[in-house]
Amino acid sequence: MKVLVINCGSSSLKYQLIDSETESVLAKGLCERIGIDGRLTHKPTGKDKVEIETAMPNHTAAVSLVLKELTDEKNGVIKSLDEIGAVGHRVVHGGEKFASSTILTDEVLKQVEECNDLAPLHNPANLIGINACKELMPNVPMVGVFDTAFHQTMPKEAYLYGLPYEYYEKYGIRRYGFHGTSHSFVSKRVAEILGKDPKDLKVVVCHLGNGSSVCAVDGGKSVDTSMGLTPLEGVPMGTRSGSLDPAIIEFIAEKENLSLHEVMNVLNKKSGVEGISGISSDFRDLEKAAEEGDERAYAAQKCFSYAVAKYVGAYAAAMGGVDVVAFTAGVGENDSVIRAMVGEYLGFLGIKIDPEKNNCRGVERVISTDDSTALAMIVPTNEELAIARETVALLK
Ligand code: AMP
Repeated sequence: MKVLVINCGSSSLKYQLIDSETESVLAKGLCERIGIDGRLTHKPTGKDKVEIETAMPNHTAAVSLVLKELTDEKNGVIKSLDEIGAVGHRVVHGGEKFASSTILTDEVLKQVEECNDLAPLHNPANLIGINACKELMPNVPMVGVFDTAFHQTMPKEAYLYGLPYEYYEKYGIRRYGFHGTSHSFVSKRVAEILGKDPKDLKVVVCHLGNGSSVCAVDGGKSVDTSMGLTPLEGVPMGTRSGSLDPAIIEFIAEKENLSLHEVMNVLNKKSGVEGISGISSDFRDLEKAAEEGDERAYAAQKCFSYAVAKYVGAYAAAMGGVDVVAFTAGVGENDSVIRAMVGEYLGFLGIKIDPEKNNCRGVERVISTDDSTALAMIVPTNEELAIARETVALLK
């Protein structure tokens, strides 16, 4: 079956057409500036990349253009839309309603909409993408794959905050966690690589990218994760602050004469490693600057690595040990400096990073020394493939 995977943001839409039998990508691309002007970058496998600037007044127009390119005589990869057997949609927040992927019936879409409060920037955009696809492909089954679903196995002690319990009951304020599709994919892949049953493994997945989260996967199930009610909690990220003393919010508001909304904007968009370094949210820029002697760039790298290592330590306590620490996503897969810095703290787990094995980018491999008693690994994530797999599994 050919599965179209859609990841829809407020003004962008990423897609991949995947052949589920061979698990190969037939085409992928990105619509940007939807509702502003519109630009489509389409890459059919084995053919040249196409860039098209054309009006995309809304998401329906964007999806329509994607479908046209997929079936185009020159740039296309399928003859007709009938070849698309299903559409898998990334949905950011499923609240407590969704512990697994679901076929997107009208009833389910209403429930997804009820989660909008919890992810006001993401869920409405996801819904717009789903409705645009439904309109243009009314007979094709649609499946929702939730970033939060994998973490619904967390025990109460991991997901409750130290707040009045009625806020949890009335408003659903609790830890949900994100990047679930990636944490699930990577932890399963670790078991496959090692030839073990996921039930027999304690894995800490470090999904380190623009947004970063760490997850404790015990016996194949998420038992704790660093992101919370929103993707702002946890380690400092590209521009997000990560966890901090909540009193800081009022303090900054008073000192800088900012509204609550403005302070939240600082925490989301001007903090993290960019805030600390004053240079960039991109770890490649930090590495270059640190090499040239910039102390704040180095401090940003160290703060990030230290925070990641502290979560690994916390999750070793939560699971009563760790068999594998797996690095994934843009930074985790590519940044050997950050992996080495995190590794410096992991001796207590019996993990020592081998500098030679660690000197690589984007490959699947063990990077701890042969005499380490637990493993450090790089396992590239593939959220689109995970969504396609979930979609096919559900429809079967
Ligand atoms: P993601 O959010 O998973 O797409 O990760 C994107 C981030 O990965 C970028 O912002 C960079 O900070 C980081 N990244 C990508 N390539 C490299 C690299 N070669 N070395 C270090 N960091 C990288």
